[in-house]
Amino acid sequence: NFTLLLLFSTSLNVLYAQKQRKTIEQRVDSLMKLMTLTEKIGQLNQYSGREVTGPASDRKNYLLNDIKNGLVGSMLNVKGVKDTREIQAIALQSRLKIPLLFSLDVIHGYKTVFPIPLAESASWNLDIIRQAAEVAAEETAASGVHWTFAPMVDIARDPRWGRVMEGAGEDTYLGSQIAKARVLGFQGQQLGSVDRIMACAKHFVGYGASMAGRDYNPVDMSKQQLHEIYLPPFKAAADAGVATFMNSFNTLNGVPATGNAYLQRNILKGDWKYKGFVVSDWGSIKEMTPWGFAKNLNEAAEKAIIAGSDMDMESEAYKKELEKLVKGGKVDVKYIDEAVRRILYKKFELGLFDDPYRFSDEKREQKVMNDPKYKKAALLAAQQAIVLLKNSKNVLPLSKSLKNIALIGPLVNAKRDQAGSWVLYADTANIVSVYEGVQQKIKKANLKYAFGTSITDTLTNGFGDAVAAAKQADAVVMVLGETWDMSGEAKSRSDISLPGKQEELFKAIKATGKPLIVVLMAGRPLVFSEIAAQADAVVYAWFLGDQGGNAIADVLFGDYNPSGKLPISFPRNVGQIPIFYNYYNTGRPVTKPADIRYKSAYIDVVNEPQYAFGHGLSYTTFKYDDLKLSKNQITKSGKLKLSFKLTNVGNVVGEEVVQLYIQDVFASVVRPLKELKDFAKVKLKPGESKEITFELGTDQLTFYHEDKGWITEPGEFKVMIGAASNDIKLKASFELR
Ligand code: BGC
Repeated sequence: NFTLLLLFSTSLNVLYAQKQRKTIEQRVDSLMKLMTLTEKIGQLNQYSGREVTGPASDRKNYLLNDIKNGLVGSMLNVKGVKDTREIQAIALQSRLKIPLLFSLDVIHGYKTVFPIPLAESASWNLDIIRQAAEVAAEETAASGVHWTFAPMVDIARDPRWGRVMEGAGEDTYLGSQIAKARVLGFQGQQLGSVDRIMACAKHFVGYGASMAGRDYNPVDMSKQQLHEIYLPPFKAAADAGVATFMNSFNTLNGVPATGNAYLQRNILKGDWKYKGFVVSDWGSIKEMTPWGFAKNLNEAAEKAIIAGSDMDMESEAYKKELEKLVKGGKVDVKYIDEAVRRILYKKFELGLFDDPYRFSDEKREQKVMNDPKYKKAALLAAQQAIVLLKNSKNVLPLSKSLKNIALIGPLVNAKRDQAGSWVLYADTANIVSVYEGVQQKIKKANLKYAFGTSITDTLTNGFGDAVAAAKQADAVVMVLGETWDMSGEAKSRSDISLPGKQEELFKAIKATGKPLIVVLMAGRPLVFSEIAAQADAVVYAWFLGDQGGNAIADVLFGDYNPSGKLPISFPRNVGQIPIFYNYYNTGRPVTKPADIRYKSAYIDVVNEPQYAFGHGLSYTTFKYDDLKLSKNQITKSGKLKLSFKLTNVGNVVGEEVVQLYIQDVFASVVRPLKELKDFAKVKLKPGESKEITFELGTDQLTFYHEDKGWITEPGEFKVMIGAASNDIKLKASFELR
């Protein structure tokens, strides 16, 4: 009976959704009948509007006039109930009173700062990731804004690229799961609730593969790489119902993403039947001109609209050129109608035609902003994001009864830096520094702080004080890394080692012989081989946001048992880049580390990364055993169950991220040695065991073939279950028939 009831209510929901879609479509149709061509094109125009609420200026007048005349569909960078109300009121003076969409870059929190997306991804905890997006949505929506330009779902295998901080790392499967969690967090199950906002999957596509890790650079890749590695997180976002896509600054195999019909029309709107709309990246339509892809703004507008870019962010190409293009017969009005339809649909779905001010409610804004419950969510996310990379002789956790602790380094008191890039609206003075976090936790200890050196200086005159502080201490915690603005957009680095004299400072402190823990903060994987070799413990703390200092202190003193795992490989030196776990077994792989003659190896560094994808330690030990496969052969329509036993054999409660990898042993194209296909984060008390079950079916066994598309080939598959891509604990194999 219960099943019947469930079936009944599910089909009612489906019917309701279909009906709602129909109603919205009818409303869009009737509105479009009233619109002039100019008004339609207006909907495709998006301006940045910091000036629109600022002091009187020519730009302000220009924007206000366009809004009043119905020539603007959306504004970015307008926020707050007061301002959004004021600007919306102007849009409602236009002939058809079509409300504006307000959008912002809310990347990892609006008021409450969460860990940078790469750090959050290190949690491998989809609930925590979804909740972080939910909080960001609640705060953003309460400020009258409808739409964020997040999540960035670009796969990134090059830590020189500054925007590696904004994504989920190198892996397609992990990245796809995280994309989905973030979209659901921002949007909820269905658009229209006033405490959720539209999300935007960006940057479609290939942006993370920019050549040599330099931002905005061209991208050349095989169709197989594109479909197998870079597209799936976007597909996952689309399947999760993401309201919008943003295209990208890069070219893909010679064609700018913004003018790329193969990507936007064939794949996104064609194969995937995507119903949302595509916004260009900032000025990316205009940018096609200097690149030699469009002769002038007119041709850029033509190419972009035909290729499926629906909304023009900040190029004014559509506003200035589309009408001429339609009247001159160069652009069929159907392209404009389609783009307008997609945009209006979202405005209806958000309920803006029923009440254009429904997001802009003063009482809600006051209630929601800085709600203390969000601090707790930020702390949980920060704890889960920390990765314990090294812990020799279990130097960590530190005892709370230590008498003298030295805190050394340029980031001990960091606040702004811990927020990372893309934090535009938060009060970063609220961020808890490591010093504050440690002080709160062990009130009785004698804390000695020494700055040592700054991040960017080459001065060493702080070394003396730092060494003196270390000498008096029972244990030393160094906090080193990058400044917040060394990663993010346009922040590529060719050398990703610790800037300035920080490594030298480390050596000077190491020479004191004191137990030495290094906490590293950065927006990317750094190279730090000396520290990796010599420090007693290394804690990777990325940029953890508001609660960073508390979360780090929790880990240092054992109040939280670290559970993060790397979502991206850490190279030993820059020359190893690109380095990622799911490489091929081709070339001449090194089989015996001592023998690299005529092998695919460097003669000056071992091939393995410093820390592998999936690596991360815990204060407890997990035992993996008893792997069972439900069968050793499956058919294409079949499923296979894998189960094994995970036991916490240590003394403290802990969480383990168990990882399932496969290898397709022989295929018509060479397959990677390992591919992540599933994972689970499991919490166990000391002595506790749990049976973990994964299911494998054809979906996880397919690959993309240049000529045939997605295919599955029969044959042997290996399965590997482990604690990291380089720490496989259990193995088996099966046959696909
Ligand atoms: C970035 C986008 C961002 C946009 C709007 C661009 O420069 O590439 O990711 O959403 O600016 O701020």
